[in-house]
Amino acid sequence: MIKFLHQNCYIDGAWCDADSGKTIEISDPGTGKVLGTVPNMGKAETERAIQAAERALPAWRSRTAGDRARILRRLFELMIANQDALAELLSREQGKPFSEARGEIAYGASYVEWFAEEGKRAYGEVIPGHAVDRRIVTLRQGIGVVGAITPWNFPNALITRKLAPALAAGCTMVLKPASATPYSALALAELAEEAGVPPGVFSVVTGSAREIGGELTRNPIVRKISFTGSTEIGVQLLRECADTVKKVSMELGGNAPFIVFEDADVDAAVEGAIASKFRNCGQTCVCTNRFYVQDGVYDAFVKKLAARVGELKLGYGMDEGVTVGPLIDAAAVAKVEEHLMDAVSGGATVLTGGRRSDLGKTFFEPTVVAHVKPGMMLAKEETFGPLAGVIRFNTEEEVIKLANDTEFGLASYFYSSDLGRVWRVAEALETGMVGINTGLISTEVAPFGGVKQSGLGREGSRHGLDDYMEIKYLCMGV
Ligand code: ADP
Repeated sequence: MIKFLHQNCYIDGAWCDADSGKTIEISDPGTGKVLGTVPNMGKAETERAIQAAERALPAWRSRTAGDRARILRRLFELMIANQDALAELLSREQGKPFSEARGEIAYGASYVEWFAEEGKRAYGEVIPGHAVDRRIVTLRQGIGVVGAITPWNFPNALITRKLAPALAAGCTMVLKPASATPYSALALAELAEEAGVPPGVFSVVTGSAREIGGELTRNPIVRKISFTGSTEIGVQLLRECADTVKKVSMELGGNAPFIVFEDADVDAAVEGAIASKFRNCGQTCVCTNRFYVQDGVYDAFVKKLAARVGELKLGYGMDEGVTVGPLIDAAAVAKVEEHLMDAVSGGATVLTGGRRSDLGKTFFEPTVVAHVKPGMMLAKEETFGPLAGVIRFNTEEEVIKLANDTEFGLASYFYSSDLGRVWRVAEALETGMVGINTGLISTEVAPFGGVKQSGLGREGSRHGLDDYMEIKYLCMGV
């Protein structure tokens, strides 16, 4: 039996089925075996969850920040105490290696700990008045009922990044998790209840994305939508939110460049490349999507990268020693294959991997291709898989142009030991986050988010709380 596997939704503090009694089957992407079902809910159940969130709001927001912090702190401790069980559930529904799943639980919990603390510091300000008989004060107040919609690639951490600041700010939340990975979300609901989160403050509704998402965006009670997912759906949600002028946070797609200059430490760059490209089987929105390597170190870099990628161990997430798991579904494998075929037909060469694996229909071998050209599909679209394509470049000016030649602007990475270049390139890259001589940038203490069509708002850091708060200004005559 898998611990924390709830086959009901959690609304207004109660576990419940869909009104229709209908369910959706959830399967393990590695084995294809059915793990269980969850309710196939729609508009009516979402409406009830929103009403419960509205009822719960006055009491929750009028508690002290310290009270809310203590509850969040308990949630953090429960997540850490149950790290292995939560990681197993996550690995089984999502496919990532167990060690990575454990890492995600710790990472997800870190947001809960961080915002438990940060919520106590939601300071307003006293502004010197504009007239002798006026005093000006600002308050920062939680925005109200929040609707959250999250994807399958980080079934735990992408929820806590929204839930923790929302609850810390005094908001209440209705969450629709991805239909591929609902169990990690429902497990969080159980732990939140145990931690003392009152009924209605956090509800989880599974089922039809269109119906649940449609109600969350349409309903005027919901004051804010926080979404992580594709740019395509993000744009649709933004349109839907326009009618009721909701505040929005959007963490959308990326197309991260990874640049290696001739003055870089090539071995360090290879290690950074492995971490940033193959983590979660290439399925993170900040995963490197295209490598640009300067002419003088190109051959050395691709040779070393291919050798390191050849050492990765592909396998079922719960098996010992596995470093790369399956992709989420067959469509994801088809996309990787399509990008690879496009590159090879245009003259790129496969250095390692390059084919589906016999392990099962969601497995694709970690792959490196050299002699990739900037116009190829794998450099223009988000591959979201274990395929590293390496492009040769000559000058700094040329590579900045190539790196910025995309509608996306989430993360970028580069390796260089020249201080002047580090500043120039960091300032010139049109992304919300830049990894310099590192391939790992995610942490709860830093503001995560994108520019251009990669999104709006920031998650994590003290700025992460602002996304769930409004500033109210009081003008006092004296
Ligand atoms: P991904 O490629 O990460 O699955 P999506 O944007 O397709 O990205 O999905 C992210 C989340 O958005 C999931 O929870 C999904 O169910 C949800 N979603 C998909 N379509 C819609 C929609 N029309 N309205 C609201 N949510 C949606």
